[in-house]
Amino acid sequence: MEKRFIPASTEVMLSCEVYPPKSPAARASFETELPKLLELPFQLMTVTHGAGGSELGGTATTLTRIRGLSDIPTAAHLCCRGASEGMLVSQLQDAERAGAGWILALRGDGRSPTPAGELPFEYAVELVELTRRRFPQFKVAVAGYPETHPEATDAPTDVAFLKRKVEAGADVVVCQFFFDNQIFFDFHDRCRRVGIEVPIIPGILPVKSLEHVERLCGQCGAYLPGQLRERLSSSTDPVQAGLAHTIEQVAELVEWGVSGLHFYCLNQSQPVKTILKAAVGARAKEVPTHNPPINAP
Ligand code: FAD
Repeated sequence: MEKRFIPASTEVMLSCEVYPPKSPAARASFETELPKLLELPFQLMTVTHGAGGSELGGTATTLTRIRGLSDIPTAAHLCCRGASEGMLVSQLQDAERAGAGWILALRGDGRSPTPAGELPFEYAVELVELTRRRFPQFKVAVAGYPETHPEATDAPTDVAFLKRKVEAGADVVVCQFFFDNQIFFDFHDRCRRVGIEVPIIPGILPVKSLEHVERLCGQCGAYLPGQLRERLSSSTDPVQAGLAHTIEQVAELVEWGVSGLHFYCLNQSQPVKTILKAAVGARAKEVPTHNPPINAP
């Protein structure tokens, strides 16, 4: 049996985020990559959502596909801005039908068109409240921003709003990615100081190349440390240099004692597999498979 790697603490939750593939080529690649991702020791697989519809669409299709291959717990990301309560209830029902046990309750950056006469949701906290009230069976995750959400007035205000999401019933905070662990450690400290006691899980983006991280940092406002920029631009093998950075980053987080790791795997299995083996392997123990592919092609 292949050795499976998990952090030594059973409290550590390894989760993996995938997105619904859109083009035929992306779908074909996803069909190859998904079974490989399901071989890795994740305890939760989450599926992203683009705002704007009254049904979960690609998110639900992808959740159903995962459920067809594995009994791994799944989470539906759900964006609420602009949507009405009726639309969101229907999407929560779709998520449940697709087998999700978790909701990652988000505001989203787009805005769904609100049906006439109905009140639009504005912030993720409202979706946490709705889920808790109407679908108490779901576990709820919310987003956190170690570098502060780009629209927030300041870090304390952003953390105060995060606390409201937790008080509304979130079970866990899943973070935006970052490349400098000190940013996460400071954020974790800020959260604990204001009384946020649920697990705060760092988001890990496997670094692929300088162009790749520059583009993603540009999109979400993450800080690209000069050292990482230099390491990627001066290397003759930027792919290996990026992987080496992520391995060191994850190893330090595990050593520090994070309660979980959320991987933005970008629908690719090999980088995460390498990172888990190298960075978490030292603390690995062999565990029985809990998410066997049951119907892999
Ligand atoms: P909120 O928690 O509502 O916060 C949004 C902003 O409003 C913040 O600046 C906050 O400080 C402020 N705020 C919060 N409450 C209030 C209030 N009551 N009054 C005034 N201001 C307030 N996007 C997608 O489109 N699809 C995805 O699948 C997706 N997945 C994600 C997964 C993770 C782990 C993360 C970290 C982000 C994800 N996003 C996704 C991006 C997310 O939708 C955006 O970052 C969005 O801008 C904020 O969403 P939120 O849920 O954090 O919003």
